Amino acid sequence: MANVPDNIQEQLILLRQAYTSQLLGKVGQIEQIWAQRHDQWDDRILATFHRMTHSLAGSGATFGFSVLSDRAYTLERFLRSMRDNGHTLTTEEEDQISTLLVLLQQATTQPDLEMAMSQLDHHILASASSQPQKENRLIYLVKDDLHLAKDLIQQISYFGYTVHGFETLAELRNAIHQAVPAAIIIDIVASEGAFAGTDVITSIQQDQPASIPIIFISVRSDLIARLQAVQAGGHAYFTKPVEISALIDRLDQLTVYPTHDPYRIMIIEDEATLADYYAFTLQQAEMVTVVVTDPLLVMQPLIEFRPDLILMDVYMPRCSGLDLATVIRQWEAYVSIPIVFLSTETNRDKQLNAMSLGGDDFLMKPIHPDHLIKSVESRARRSRILRSFMVKDSLTGLLNHTKTKEQLSIELLRSQRQRTNLVFAMIDIDRFKSINDTYGHQVGDRVIKSLARMLSQRLRKTDCIGRYGGEEFAVILPATDGPTAVRVLDELRAGFAQIRHQASNQEFSVTFSCGLAAYPSHSDVTSLSDAADRALYAAKSLGRNQVVLAGS
Ligand code: GH3
Ligand code: MG
Ligand code: MG
Ligand code: MG
Repeated sequence: MANVPDNIQEQLILLRQAYTSQLLGKVGQIEQIWAQRHDQWDDRILATFHRMTHSLAGSGATFGFSVLSDRAYTLERFLRSMRDNGHTLTTEEEDQISTLLVLLQQATTQPDLEMAMSQLDHHILASASSQPQKENRLIYLVKDDLHLAKDLIQQISYFGYTVHGFETLAELRNAIHQAVPAAIIIDIVASEGAFAGTDVITSIQQDQPASIPIIFISVRSDLIARLQAVQAGGHAYFTKPVEISALIDRLDQLTVYPTHDPYRIMIIEDEATLADYYAFTLQQAEMVTVVVTDPLLVMQPLIEFRPDLILMDVYMPRCSGLDLATVIRQWEAYVSIPIVFLSTETNRDKQLNAMSLGGDDFLMKPIHPDHLIKSVESRARRSRILRSFMVKDSLTGLLNHTKTKEQLSIELLRSQRQRTNLVFAMIDIDRFKSINDTYGHQVGDRVIKSLARMLSQRLRKTDCIGRYGGEEFAVILPATDGPTAVRVLDELRAGFAQIRHQASNQEFSVTFSCGLAAYPSHSDVTSLSDAADRALYAAKSLGRNQVVLAGS
């Protein structure tokens, strides 16, 4: 326990306390129903009686009351057979139930806390030691004459990297002691002579827990030179003149971290404490959760939270998890969302029935935290990948046209509710046809990709970027007003115009025009996109390479 951070431990204790404090009351209610059975007993009361027992069976062990869970489960089976078969109890069976209730009552004061603690703590300790890496966009560049590298440094920095230049390997080594870069670029005609850096690089790598990606740049393209670069620990090799977009592609590949937006998990479970416990467990694995305890209130959070996966309790009052899953899947947007059912249900047929409704898995309560995390994580990952095929444009990886429009209406609703601003921007590359005509379609594609990359790297995580059409892009900037958006887009425009694109021994630059429209000046999707479109047209006719805000 010693290494579990205080706040996590506190949280765990609070969750257990909350559960424990409700426990006596819950068992009390069950006993009361039973005590009144001679005056008042019908199918509805029996169903409540069964459900409450079922819920105790499902939650007890999770909070360290495994004896209670066992006894509740025995009782639950009795009640289920009564409910399913209209079975009348014999006096003997009545006595058994009464005895079980007494045992149940006793078990409320018999927590096996050690077990519950160790289950979750085991995982927390494991996850605490593997903190996610922060995104590092620092690049070190070594060249004997930095003056000659100024341009390269500038070009790389347009793509969101911070580049520091050094003239000697000794300076590089010092800098690494200060801050570890995401990658190192070395122009190998260094002052120490060709490949003089081999030893230095090797020793730098030895000091690092994980090797730093190294990219060599050279005038030589022969095999010997490439071989030496590999032997010196190089991850990539570029000959001069360096093709910037290819270099950036490689940098992107070498420096990506397995960081992704956290998986979003919706937990539908009527037992609030249990729901909190699942939420807390998943949060320890860097997932984001939303809890719904009333199944009939699921629609709003479903739309707003946009979960990657739903964790669904099977037994809930008013609506079973299986029925709810069927209803959710009737919405086109949620046809393929993975649903993982949580249940104490042992009846195999019911499990299979749930699967055929589209549920991807069936987990038994109490579920071990590690198992919960693994099942949820792997299915959420698959669901993300699957969805990305449907919503992303294949050339740029940005949202496609349909998805961009959809996103605009979602963000607009959010802005209306939260009373915040929003800006919709349309970007169109200037005279793109002539780029295709002059340099070929492939070069044109590369230009489209470089703009896509620049937009993704320079805009905020909360901004949505879509490829609207061939050389047209759309950006949604939530919580942003018109003048701010103009500043942001104009900076991007200026940056993009600075990039020099290459086409077989020629360099050229490209510009774009941009039209913006703001909410609330324009209050629905149609008027926002029409206004942005007109503003874009205005930017074109004013001479291109500029940003125009509608109504200004
Ligand atoms: P303007 O400044 O008025 O926008 O001029 P423009 O030439 O960019 O405008 P226009 O809409 O006439 O031409 C767009 C061109 O973009 C036509 C089309 O061949 C080209 N294009 C569309 N999609 C792609 C693509 O995916 N790849 C490439 N390389 N070209 C594309
Ligand atoms: Mg339940
Ligand atoms: Mg166009
Ligand atoms: Mg164009």
